[in-house]
Amino acid sequence: MIADNSSNRQEVPDACPHCGNKLSPWQQVLLATDRALVCKKCWYRIILDVISESKKGGPEKSKDKEHN
Ligand SMILES: [Zn+2]
Repeated sequence: MIADNSSNRQEVPDACPHCGNKLSPWQQVLLATDRALVCKKCWYRIILDVISESKKGGPEKSKDKEHN
């Protein structure tokens, strides 16, 4: 019965999607917190925002990037 809180959590990959380098638990924490993490192996920037974007389905992908 811990699913209540876990729904708020985003899916944090346990490995780099680019090179498959395994992320340490601490790196996953950083990734979940900052929603971004640079892989130490291939320097690929893992961004969680892109993944969670489809979850929202909203047209606005940026918070305060819009300009007139
Ligand atoms: Zn990598």
